[in-house]
Amino acid sequence: MKNDQQFPRPEIPERASYLIGDEELEAAWESIVDANRATAASIEHFLTHRGTRWKETMGENPHVRAANNRQANRHAGLLLGMSDQQATAVLNAAEYVREHLPKFWKTFRCGAIALTNLRKAAVETLPLIHRDDLLEIIDEELIDIAPGKTPTELRSWIIRRIPELDVELFNEAAEGAKDRRSVTFTHFGEGMSLVELTIPTIEAKAIEKKVNAAARGMNRAQPRDTDQPPAFAAAGVPTDRLRPHQVAEGPHPAAVGMDENPPVDHDARYQDHHAHDQDSECPGNERATDAVDDRTIRQREADLLSAWLRDGHCYSTPISAKICVMVPEETLTGESEEPAITTDRASIIPAADIRKMATDPEADHEWYTAATRKNQRRADRDILTVIYNGRFAPDRLRDAVIFRDGICQATGCTIPAERSDLDHQIPYERAGPTSGSNLWALCRRHHRLKSHGYLPPPSSDPPQSDTAKETHRKAA
Ligand SMILES: [Zn+2]
Repeated sequence: MKNDQQFPRPEIPERASYLIGDEELEAAWESIVDANRATAASIEHFLTHRGTRWKETMGENPHVRAANNRQANRHAGLLLGMSDQQATAVLNAAEYVREHLPKFWKTFRCGAIALTNLRKAAVETLPLIHRDDLLEIIDEELIDIAPGKTPTELRSWIIRRIPELDVELFNEAAEGAKDRRSVTFTHFGEGMSLVELTIPTIEAKAIEKKVNAAARGMNRAQPRDTDQPPAFAAAGVPTDRLRPHQVAEGPHPAAVGMDENPPVDHDARYQDHHAHDQDSECPGNERATDAVDDRTIRQREADLLSAWLRDGHCYSTPISAKICVMVPEETLTGESEEPAITTDRASIIPAADIRKMATDPEADHEWYTAATRKNQRRADRDILTVIYNGRFAPDRLRDAVIFRDGICQATGCTIPAERSDLDHQIPYERAGPTSGSNLWALCRRHHRLKSHGYLPPPSSDPPQSDTAKETHRKAA
C-alpha cells in the first residue's frame, strides 16, 4: 500500500465526470488507471536497469558504454514488444520527463495519463530543455492540464504555451527549424508510396487550403477552357458537367475564381446540414455526390497534388484559398515578436513569417478586429451579438464563429471549426436565433451526436475569444 500513498489513484477527469455513476464506465476507468500505473512502473524498472548498467560501466571506453546502453534498450524492447529504436525513444522520453518534469512524471506514475501523452509532452517541451526556470512552470501546469487531454490537445496546448513563456526562445527555435526543410520518399508494398514534405507551416497551410479548395470544386463544372491543362486530364477531372445547387447559400468562398456553384461538403459554411443524408463522418472522407466522379475529397486531393507536382500544371483560372490566422496588431507593426496562431489554435506562425505574408503584394487580405472584454454584458454591439434574420449566417458571422470557436466545440475534439458545421444550439425551428451566442462549430460526427441528443449540453459561457487582431487572408 506504500505505492498507493506515494502515487494516489486519480479521479475520473473533470470533462468526463458526468459519466460517474455508470457502473461499467467507472470499472473501465479503474482498469485504465491500473494499466497506466503498470506501464509507468515497468518504464521505471527499465530506466533503473539502464541506469545501473550505465554506472557499472563508468570509466570504460565511450563506445563500450554506448553499446551497453543500446543493449539495455534492446532488453526493454524485447519485453515491450517494440523494436530497439522504439524502445530507445520511449525510454529517452521517459528519462527526460523524470528528470526535467518531475511533477508530471509523478502524474504518470499515478496512472492519470497514458504513455502516449508522456511522450507527447517530452517531444513538445524539448525546445525548453536548457531552461529549467520555464520547465518548472510548465511542469506545474501540466499536472492540471494533461489528465483527460487527447495527445493532439496536449500538443496544441504546449506549442501555444512556449511562445507565451519566452517569445525569443520560440523565434530562435522556429528559425533553426527552417533548416530541417526536406522531402522524403518512402516506398511501400502494394505499389504505394509516401511523400513527406517538411516546410514552413505558412507555406503548408497555403498548399493545404489550395488543394482542398480545388478538390472540392472538382465535382462541379470547370471553366470551359479549350486549352485544358494536362493536369486536369491526368487527375480525371470532368470538364463538361454542370452540378445543380445543393445548398441554398452563396458561393463557397474557398472556391472563388473557379465557378459559382457551391460544392457539397462538410464546411462550416453550410450550417445545420442534416448529417443523416451523408454517408461519412470524417471531413475529408466524405464522398461527393457526383455520379461520375465518386472519389473522396482525400483521394481527389492526392490526385491533384500528384498531378501538379508531376507536370507543374495548375488551373488556368486562379484558385483562391483562405488562410485564417490571428495576429496581435503590435506584431504587424513590428513592436512585438508575439507570433500569430491559426484559427484552429494548432499551429503557431512566427512573427517574421506573418509580417512577410501581411506585406505580400500578391495576397489579398481581409482584416477583422477582435478583442476580449472583461465584462461581456457591457460589450459594444459586434458581429457575434447581432441577431440575423433567417437560418443561415452571413459570411461575417460565420467567420466570427470560426475565429471564436477555432475547433469543434465537443470536448476533446480538435477538428478545425473551418471544416465543421455551424449548428444552432437551440434549433432554428424552435426559435433559436441565428446569432453568435446560439451558433457553435460542431464537426460532422459531433453534429450528428447532438442531433440525436447524445452530446452533453454546452456550458453556459460562450467560448473565449483570444485578445488578438485577426488576419484573414486570401492566398492567390
Ligand atoms: Zn467534433
